[in-house]
Amino acid sequence: MAIVESSELIEQLKAIVGPGGYREGEDIDSKNYKDLMGARSVHPPLLMRPETTEQVSQILKACHSVKQPIAPQGGMTGLVSGAAPLDGEIVLSFERMKEVVEVDKFTSTMTVQAGVELQTIQEKAEESNLLFPLDLGARGSCTIGGNLATNAGGNRVIRYGMTRDLVVGVEAVLADGTIIDGLHKLRKNNTGYDLKQLFIGSEGTLGLITQAVIKLAPKPNSQAVALCGLKSFSEVADFLVLAQSSLGSNLSAFEVLWNNTYKLIDEYVPHVDSPLSQSFGFYVLIETMGSNAEQDLDLFLNTLNEASESGLVEEVVVADSDTKIRNIWAVRDGAAEVIGAGYMHAYDVSLNIDDMGYFGDEVEKRIRAKWEQTTIGLFGHIGDGNVHIIVNIGPETRDLHLEIDEIVYRLIQELNGSISAEHGIGIMKKQFLEYSKSDPEIQLMKTLKQTMDPHGILSPGRIF
Ligand code: FAD
Ligand code: ZN
Repeated sequence: MAIVESSELIEQLKAIVGPGGYREGEDIDSKNYKDLMGARSVHPPLLMRPETTEQVSQILKACHSVKQPIAPQGGMTGLVSGAAPLDGEIVLSFERMKEVVEVDKFTSTMTVQAGVELQTIQEKAEESNLLFPLDLGARGSCTIGGNLATNAGGNRVIRYGMTRDLVVGVEAVLADGTIIDGLHKLRKNNTGYDLKQLFIGSEGTLGLITQAVIKLAPKPNSQAVALCGLKSFSEVADFLVLAQSSLGSNLSAFEVLWNNTYKLIDEYVPHVDSPLSQSFGFYVLIETMGSNAEQDLDLFLNTLNEASESGLVEEVVVADSDTKIRNIWAVRDGAAEVIGAGYMHAYDVSLNIDDMGYFGDEVEKRIRAKWEQTTIGLFGHIGDGNVHIIVNIGPETRDLHLEIDEIVYRLIQELNGSISAEHGIGIMKKQFLEYSKSDPEIQLMKTLKQTMDPHGILSPGRIF
C-alpha cells in the first residue's frame, strides 16, 4: 500500500507547504511518532505541517490520487494508539494550525483552527469572562482537533456534556481533498443530516477537522469542592441521586475513587496530600459551580449535611480556599499518575450506575483468579457512568494485555456496557469492537468509511 518511495509525490507534497511546512529524516521529533501507550515507534518518511485548510485539501488530494496513507495528528495524547504512524504512513500534524480566529460574545462561540491547545482555548474564553467547559488532564498538550476527533469527555461531562455537545460548526476536509465548510455559528440548524457529527468521534477516519466553532458558557463565579468518604457503592449511587436532585445544574463534577485507587495514590504519588484516611470503601469528589457565590455555597453545604445526616456519607472535607480546591482535585488527578507501581494497563468503560458496584468487585475477582498478585485500581467520572481501571498483573502486563482485555470486556459485554466511554477505539480496542456494537452497526460504519474514504488513506486500520 505504501507508496512513499515515490519521490514525485514527496516533491509534490513539499511544494504544497513550502519550506518550514514539512520535516524529514532526523529532523522529525520523536513526539511526532512515538505512541504514548508504548505500542509502537515507527519513524515516518515525511511529516507534513500545513498552515491552512487549503494546504490540507491539496495534501489529501495528492495522497488520494496515489492511495498514500496518512496518520493525522493533534497533540499525541490519545490513549488508544490512534495517532502514531504505522509503517509507510506519512504524518499530517496540525501543529502549525494554532490560530484562535474569533471569540464572539453575541453568540457565545469561539472559532479556532484544529491545532489550538485546549488550555489556550480555556484561557482565551476566560479573558472574555466566558468558559469553555471541556477539561481533561492533558489540557496543556491536547488539541481541539484531537478533542473533536475523539469526542473527548473529561471532568465536567455531568453538567456540560461530551465534546460532541460543545460544537456548533465544523470545517473538515474529505479524503479526496473536498472541503466541507460547516463553519457557522447557528445553534439551530435542522437542514437534514448533521454532517459535523460524522467527523466528531470518528478518530480521523472519515475526514480531517481543520476548524471548529465551539460553544462557550457563562463563566461561573462560584466553585465549591469537597472530598467525602463513603462505605459502599450503594451509598455512592444514592449520594449521586441526592446530589443531582438537590444541586440541579450546579453539580459540575462527581468523581469517585475506589479504596484500591486511593491507597495507590497515597503510596505512589508523593506530591498528593490525601485529606482522608484510607479506611473508607469509596471517595467522592463533589463540585458545584454557579452564579451566586453565597447561595451556591449554602446549597452545597446543606446537601452535604443532608448526606451526612442520612448516613450516606461518613466523613467530609470541604475545601475552604483555592489551594485546598486544587489539593482535592490533585487527589483525583493522582489516579493517572500511579506509575511507581509498574506499568498500569488502563481501561475506559461505561455501564449503568446500578451495575457498577458489582462490576468493581467482579472484575477484580476474575482478574485475580488468573493472576493472584494483581495490582488494580478503579476510579472515574461516575456521574456519567464512566469507570477507569488500572491494572498491573506483574512484569508481563504489557505482553499479556489482550488476555486482561478479554476478561474486562467480556464482563462489560455481559452488563451491556461500552468498551470505550471517552477514549475511542483506535488500534488498541478494535478487536473488541463487536463486544459493544452489533454487526449491522459495524457494517453501517464500514459503508460510511467506504463512501467517504474509498481508498482508505485516512487513519487506516483504526477503529476496524
Ligand atoms: P491525538 O492523540 O493527536 O489524536 C487522537 C486521534 O484523533 C487520532 O486518531 C488522530 O488521528 C485523530 N486526530 C487528531 N487531530 C485530528 C484532526 N484535526 N482531524 C481528524 N483527526 C484528528 N480523554 C478523555 O476523553 N477524557 C479524559 O479525561 C482524558 N484524560 C486524559 C488525561 C491524560 C493525562 C492524558 C495523557 C490523556 C487523557 N485523555 C482523556 C485522552 C486524550 O487527551 C484525548 O483523547 C484528546 O482528545 C486527544 O487529543 P490530541 O490532540 O492529543 O489528539
Ligand atoms: Zn477520564
